[in-house]
Amino acid sequence: MNESWKIEAWRILIFIVVILLLGTGINNYTLAALIGALIYLAWHLYSLARLNRWLTEYQAAEIPESTGIWGRVYDRLRGVTRHHQHEMADLHRGLDRYRQITKALPEGAVTLGPNDEIELINEAATSLLGLKDPQDLGSPITNLVRDPQFVDYMRDGKFSEALEIPSPVNHSVRMSIRVVPYGDVNQKLLLVDDVSRVHKLDEIRRDFVANVSHEMKSPLTVIKGYVESMRDDTGEFGLKWKKAIFQVDQQTDRMCRVVEDLLQLSNLETNPAEKPTPVDMPSLIRSVHAEALELSNSRHDIALDIDETLFLTGNFNQLYSALSNLVFNAIQYTPKRGQIRIAWHLGRDNHAKFSVSDTGPGIEHQHLPRLTERFYRVDTARSRELGGTGLGLAIVKHVLLRHEASLSIDSEFGNGSTFTCVFPPQRIADKNALKSSA
Ligand code: ADP
Repeated sequence: MNESWKIEAWRILIFIVVILLLGTGINNYTLAALIGALIYLAWHLYSLARLNRWLTEYQAAEIPESTGIWGRVYDRLRGVTRHHQHEMADLHRGLDRYRQITKALPEGAVTLGPNDEIELINEAATSLLGLKDPQDLGSPITNLVRDPQFVDYMRDGKFSEALEIPSPVNHSVRMSIRVVPYGDVNQKLLLVDDVSRVHKLDEIRRDFVANVSHEMKSPLTVIKGYVESMRDDTGEFGLKWKKAIFQVDQQTDRMCRVVEDLLQLSNLETNPAEKPTPVDMPSLIRSVHAEALELSNSRHDIALDIDETLFLTGNFNQLYSALSNLVFNAIQYTPKRGQIRIAWHLGRDNHAKFSVSDTGPGIEHQHLPRLTERFYRVDTARSRELGGTGLGLAIVKHVLLRHEASLSIDSEFGNGSTFTCVFPPQRIADKNALKSSA
């Protein structure tokens, strides 16, 4: 038996002796026992009331002191409270450390609660996003950063890719925003980075390519003109230099195609997207098919399978360029007597799909992720021999990006390839809209 129980036992014993003496004195043991029981009960109720008061004013008041069984209960409570206070202090220290780390991050960091309300924000984030600490804590971030792209990004919740927008404080500053969801109640960590330098370098690169292509265009046109007249010269000079002129003519053609493709790419990259208009896809695809038949010159079996009712909204010329690039590639890379199938239909997922399948050489798996990079070719010599620029699929990718669409490539080495353009439901146009816009 521990000390407090012993004290309690002694207390009860002494109490019984006093009650017995009282019983003898008043010659009524029942009454004495009743008085004793009431006093003992009153003491317990008093101790219970003290405990209740402390529990209600938790932490504001001291834990009461007592002896016996109540002393033991209070001592236990004191121990538990002390342990709890230590844990709280540890937790606060951890939280402070976390706050200091977040504040010291060179990247802007904002932690968001379940309803995107700001919980914590560091200095870099306040200056990039134009937020105030502590005034803005607790407010939903989309009430304060009102860029429509940012609001859509937060609403859509597709955080696999970063969002790049201008800073609301200074429009010449470009910010890259990444969101990392964490915890089980939809908390988020928002990381903001100043990418103005990278953005500027990218702009310089794009301008440089566009300027060089523009500068090359005029001299190339002049050279091309002279080469053509030399090629057609039937005199002594023409006959003597026939082979050399033929090669210069071919190379000039190739350079012209590269310059044209580079200009088209920089237009796609730099010019803002035009207002989309309804595009009669069935007739666009039939034109591509007619050109393909001409290019193939009966060397291939080209099948056409199109949904005549499926229209898109977008840019006719850009779509023509992208789809013809895919079809012409199939013709260029598929050997004689190969089959090519062009299809246009609505998928079960409500996405419109344009696909070109061929029975050509196919592409080894490791090349697939890089095919849309500029100048990436599986076989450079073969591509050049066929008059390729290495820019066709990069153009396709950019056109599709502008149409919220994506390119999927399915190919097995030795077993042909299928290139599919997938357009989202919001890009599918009503046939009547085309009639009214005509
Ligand atoms: P290129 O002008 O060289 O055709 P593209 O960007 O159009 O450039 O294509 C990149 C590369 O992808 C090509 O060089 C070729 O190796 C490969 N490729 C594209 N389409 C096909 C196809 N239908 N079959 C086999 N390989 C293809």
